[in-house]
Amino acid sequence: MQVDTLILGAGAAGMMCAAQCGGRTLIIDHAKAPGEKIRISGGGRCNFTNLYTAPDNFLSANPHFCKSALGRYTQWDFIALVEEYRIAWHEKTLGQLFCDNSAKDIVAMLRSEMARAGADLWLHTSLSDLRHDGTDFVATLEAQGARRSVTARNLVLATGGKSIPKMGATGLAYDVARQFGLTVTDTRAGLVPFTFPEGRFADLAGVALPVRAQAGTASFDEAMLFTHRGLSGPAMLQISSYWQDGAPITVNLDPQGTLLDTLRNQRARAGRHNLTTELARHLPARLIAALPAQTGLSLAGNLADQSDAALTRLCGALSNWQLTPGGTEGYRTAEVTLGGIDTAGVSSKTMEARSLPGLYVIGEALDVTGWLGGYNFQWAWASGAAAGRAISEKTNRAP
Ligand SMILES: Cc1cc2nc3c(=O)[nH]c(=O)nc-3n(C[C@H](O)[C@H](O)[C@H](O)COP(=O)(O)OP(=O)(O)OC[C@H]3O[C@@H](n4cnc5c(N)ncnc54)[C@H](O)[C@@H]3O)c2cc1C
Repeated sequence: MQVDTLILGAGAAGMMCAAQCGGRTLIIDHAKAPGEKIRISGGGRCNFTNLYTAPDNFLSANPHFCKSALGRYTQWDFIALVEEYRIAWHEKTLGQLFCDNSAKDIVAMLRSEMARAGADLWLHTSLSDLRHDGTDFVATLEAQGARRSVTARNLVLATGGKSIPKMGATGLAYDVARQFGLTVTDTRAGLVPFTFPEGRFADLAGVALPVRAQAGTASFDEAMLFTHRGLSGPAMLQISSYWQDGAPITVNLDPQGTLLDTLRNQRARAGRHNLTTELARHLPARLIAALPAQTGLSLAGNLADQSDAALTRLCGALSNWQLTPGGTEGYRTAEVTLGGIDTAGVSSKTMEARSLPGLYVIGEALDVTGWLGGYNFQWAWASGAAAGRAISEKTNRAP
């Protein structure tokens, strides 16, 4: 069978690309349905983009690489598509857009777009052999024991990263990239909860509060959640992408920076109040009860017993809690994979490999990783559209 374009992976990026390619397109996936991560994302409502998407929201060895694609297929383009399909949406927080109804609406929309473009979708299909004959890619595909050879002028790697193997994530894109001479940078789990040894926070499991979390130079003001195994919540997921193994993270329990003034004022007004009672107006009571054992801080006595120096020391400690995670939950629960196919070998305009014309890489397989909040899907849409449009132009030009 001969096609113009073979796309490996019917996830977010692959489906967007297939919808834009033109010519004869075949998209394959080993899963039983396309877009499974879209379906489960955002608690079933898919945080499909972010109003404030900008290149600064992405991590990559080359922070400039994502600019071109993000600039040519923007959040507004995707919102326009969603509106064309009359999918109702709302902004939850921080520019994060979710479906009102179901993430399945986004999958159905992309399937319709692929059908409109005339792309064929083969599910339960995997790649068993691949070579380049000097002109075309020659792939042997396997579906339910049967093998078929497919010849394609263009090959798009869209099988994503390693996150959540249970959902079908594999390193296929990395293997194919290496086969054709591209470099793959080290990968690690991103947007992932931290673990701490010996159930350090087990007694606090379920407690959540707003914090400022910092790892290296990155900091995020969002919620933190204590879990049986460690720390999670958006603040922790965000800084996990910036965290280096063995390094401490800093948790500021007073992100507004108002606690010291508040305690001083209360001391003047109600000095006989217990310090812990007053703190419980600002922090969860279970956390306050655990703080002496967790931090070595003494919270004994009334407000009136606390000198200015003591209150300053206390607030300083609460705003600079240094914690060293034992590790992370890893690819088992990570939302994304950091690192991947080195962007140095890929055109930022077309996503085409410099060393082998006709080979394209899109989505999470590339060394481009977004923050939590709809940025990763926006990268999938933008990079998929960049490759799809480039292929379309090429296919239309071909004799
Ligand atoms: C639980 C969870 C929730 C998330 N929520 C959000 C969110 O709300 N907003 C957001 O922006 N991002 C979210 N993300 C991240 C987002 O899902 C990914 O960044 C995005 O899906 C990447 O798109 P992709 O097309 O590159 O890869 P994927 O969407 O992962 O698609 C890859 C496809 O390739 C297929 N595949 C893999 N290996 C093979 C193989 N060997 N043979 C054949 N097929 C193969 C897979 O089955 C899959 O269909 C979430 C991720 C997870 C895990």
